[in-house]
Amino acid sequence: MEYSLLADFYEKIESTTKRLEMTDILVALLKKTPPSVIDKVVYLTQGKLYPDYVGVELGVAEKLALRALSLATGLSVEELEAELKRAGDIGVAAERSLSRRRVKSLLDFVAQSQVGAKKLTVDEVYNTLDKVAKATGEGSQDTKISLIASLLRHATPKEARYLMRTITGKLRLGIADMTILDALAIAFCGGKEARPLIERAYNLSSDLGYVARAVAEKGLEGAKQFKIAIGRPVRPMLAERLTTAEEILQKLGGKCVAEYKYDGERIQAHKSGADVILFSRRLENITHHYPDACGIIRNHVKANEAIVEAECVAIDPDTGEMRPFQELMHRRRKYGIEEAMKEYPVSLFFFDCLYVDGQDLTNAPYPKRREVLAKILEPGERAMLATYRLIEDVEELERFFEEAISEGCEGLVCKSLAPDSVYQAGARGWLWIKFKRSYQSKLVEPIDVTVVGAFWGKGKRAGKYGALLCAVYDPEADVFRTVCKVGSGFTDEDLEKMPEMLRPYVIEHKHPRVDSRIKADVWFVPSVVIEIIGDEITLSPLHTAGLGTIKPDAGLAIRFPRFTGRWRSDKSPEDSTTVKELVEMYKMQLKKIEV
Ligand code: ATP
Repeated sequence: MEYSLLADFYEKIESTTKRLEMTDILVALLKKTPPSVIDKVVYLTQGKLYPDYVGVELGVAEKLALRALSLATGLSVEELEAELKRAGDIGVAAERSLSRRRVKSLLDFVAQSQVGAKKLTVDEVYNTLDKVAKATGEGSQDTKISLIASLLRHATPKEARYLMRTITGKLRLGIADMTILDALAIAFCGGKEARPLIERAYNLSSDLGYVARAVAEKGLEGAKQFKIAIGRPVRPMLAERLTTAEEILQKLGGKCVAEYKYDGERIQAHKSGADVILFSRRLENITHHYPDACGIIRNHVKANEAIVEAECVAIDPDTGEMRPFQELMHRRRKYGIEEAMKEYPVSLFFFDCLYVDGQDLTNAPYPKRREVLAKILEPGERAMLATYRLIEDVEELERFFEEAISEGCEGLVCKSLAPDSVYQAGARGWLWIKFKRSYQSKLVEPIDVTVVGAFWGKGKRAGKYGALLCAVYDPEADVFRTVCKVGSGFTDEDLEKMPEMLRPYVIEHKHPRVDSRIKADVWFVPSVVIEIIGDEITLSPLHTAGLGTIKPDAGLAIRFPRFTGRWRSDKSPEDSTTVKELVEMYKMQLKKIEV
């Protein structure tokens, strides 16, 4: 398959402003793609080479990429830097530069006479980028430069646009996993109805390329053959939310196991002998951040092979007390891990077990999984089972909730004990219900929203963003619907760094997956998630979240929204609060007012 075909499709995707059109374009692309390279096409289209969990990232520094471009075009790095400044985008800069390349050497001459004759293939591009991503150590910079230049020498200007963006980690087409699953269902399995089965395969493997290849080769049958496996993360099961102990117990059939909801970072640990891999809630490989947690798993999980889940919590080494979530975030760093480990030590609180020595437990009910977990975990100072209690009445649940709060937890996660309380990979369902403090003390609990646009500030904030346009997620339509403009709660430092931080996601028009009636000054590819809190949820004709659900032509908005200080880098945009949740919260709020 020629890379130029991919570039043509990217151009189409980039220019559309409609969500459905974007899926149609993807379907057409997938149908044109031979099954043997479909995994590569899927990864490349998302700006990756592998599923996230592999942890191989493209993201060559612009400087280095420009040096490669200089080799390929004969233009000086200074000239290219000036072009980049003018264009404001490395892809466009490369495209323009390639159109005016200069012949400096015989090699250039030969290469240029071949442009158009020798066509870049997807395989060639992928394999070369793979080598670029994996080149390390001494001399690796030169290796990368010559590899990239070798591609650019044969690229057309349009191909160069997308190559350069991909190489520098800036191919931001904003195509989410769910959009690709839809497109796969339509392209290979007869229609969108087939999506649940494809999605299940994806939930168990977290590898879209792998799923794509299976369905392209074998149709729906291909999706059915997936099995849970060490090293391939399972997409996490998530909790629904309710505000009172009464409602929770009622929903869970009058009986549940309530567990402390620890305020840390969720980890999914895969152990095989002495090897341990840790995956985050977003399924990033975070093994290198937590050598101490790996040690804990190695020493305390008494099974040869296991997949277990735990909350990793920062603790005070002197008192053993839990520290707040923000402190744990100091551990999310590239360098100085050893010092951070000393300064912010962690404990693990285990709460689930998905696989042990050949036995897939995802279809086992929760009590069984918990029993196996208790069997294989040898508790210690830094390795404990999540504190839990069997609950059968409302007051007991309330008391246990207060206890959890006083111990420094966020609240409780109440879990179903029913025979069907399986591990629902990748789903937010009613088998787990969270019970958090903020629900009781404030009218609106914090919600996680995706930044989709921004407005320039005035006065003191001139030249910076004055407010961000934020949206909640609608998983059914796979779009982000706006819910507020938030301008308060940001520190001077936040304001200072925001334009720079959001710059990589700027696009010229509203992203096709954004539904907004408000026109922002700047639009973004939905990428950054922040936590906000407000005074109440109100009906609003301006915002599109839940539009028409409560009242015709009115959406829901957050009144007096404030940034809580939490950049939720641990969440992807699709993990934002959903429209459905917001609607539920609105109804709950009405109920409270009635009381
Ligand atoms: P939140 O922002 O409230 O943590 P979330 O979207 O990250 O929500 P939910 O599934 O809604 O995740 O809430 C459960 C989360 O709580 C888990 O992802 C996990 O990180 C954390 N947690 C802490 N203790 C437990 C526990 N005992 N059982 C399950 N999850 C727990």
